[in-house]
Amino acid sequence: MTTASTSRIDRQLSSSPRSQAERAALMADPGFGRVHTDHMVAIRWTVDQGWHDARLTAYQPLQLDPAAMVLHYGQAIFEGLKAYRQPDGGVAVFRPEENAARFNRSAHRLAMPELPHELFLAAVDELVAADHAWVPTAEGQSLYLRPFMIATEAQVGMRPAFEYLFLLIAFPVTPFFPGEVKPVTVWLSDEYVRAAVGGTGEAKCAGNYAGSLLAQRQAAEQGCDQVVWLDAVERRWVEEMGGMNLFFVLDGGKRLLTPALTGTLLPGVVRDSLLTLAPSLGLTVEQGRISKDDWRKGCEDGSIGEVFACGTAAVIAPVGHAKSATGNWSVGDGSAGPVTMRLRAALLDLQYGRAADPYGWLRPVQPAS
Ligand SMILES: *Cc1c(COP(=O)(O)O)cnc(C)c1O
Repeated sequence: MTTASTSRIDRQLSSSPRSQAERAALMADPGFGRVHTDHMVAIRWTVDQGWHDARLTAYQPLQLDPAAMVLHYGQAIFEGLKAYRQPDGGVAVFRPEENAARFNRSAHRLAMPELPHELFLAAVDELVAADHAWVPTAEGQSLYLRPFMIATEAQVGMRPAFEYLFLLIAFPVTPFFPGEVKPVTVWLSDEYVRAAVGGTGEAKCAGNYAGSLLAQRQAAEQGCDQVVWLDAVERRWVEEMGGMNLFFVLDGGKRLLTPALTGTLLPGVVRDSLLTLAPSLGLTVEQGRISKDDWRKGCEDGSIGEVFACGTAAVIAPVGHAKSATGNWSVGDGSAGPVTMRLRAALLDLQYGRAADPYGWLRPVQPAS
């Protein structure tokens, strides 16, 4: 696949990029989202001019009017995708077209302007090219890309804003330690919900996350790592885990079930990738529904052997134990199961270029010349 033209983005390289030694020190232990790269992309939108003033610049603070509408009414959307170091030393971004498309679906839902796909991809290409050296080479690490858009118009009257800012920033991340995949314990919340039909659950908007924090805190108080969201109406059907999609492994490891996209789930790129990959590993896949009682009974009678969550940030996280107001149970023996680990390896091998890419999911990006 060829990289798109980036000619529409003005390149203003940082006058003070960090040295190779500083970068190496920061990348030794980057954590998640603490260590930013040297550059960012910014593109403005106004009702009169549309998208304009696209720039790659030094990473820097924003100047924002206190009346900027995002601060009052929360018009803010984001994406998350990653660039992976390839065996030949090159770099490839995983399925950015999917993120471009989802970004625009989120924009539409929040009455924000859509960004042309070529411009989204050009922004990704331009930043990854400029900060190519920030893509880690260490096993399991990657460069996390965070595109987002906020309403910047300065006025507090309630309506969709007439001015927006698209930004793209990047962070080297270590989401896991190779060889060690620790199963999580989840709390099934029947007090709080993430999304209701007709709401914003399908959009990757900042407000969805703000609304989830209290339930996440409750989960922690129950000794759990993550919250599992149930449907808003019956508090019965399993939807997601935190900011990740859920999969159930059935029939002795031969069948995968994931909750169908009912309008209240976030359609994950990893979810879609696993549904596509799994048949080549001899698994059948099904999008359906599963209740919290089915989950518990399935674990007790052994028909559900494994459960895992998936998303760009953490890849695949096995679920070992579940807790709810009405009881606790374990999934299998509480450890990461073989199907979970096989799927995880298959996905990582593709992303890191160790396996073939039959679907054309990798978008190579060369360093800036
Ligand atoms: C981002 C997100 C996911 C995972 O999406 P990926 O594209 O696979 O990273 C799942 N659920 C929610 C609520 C999310 O915000």
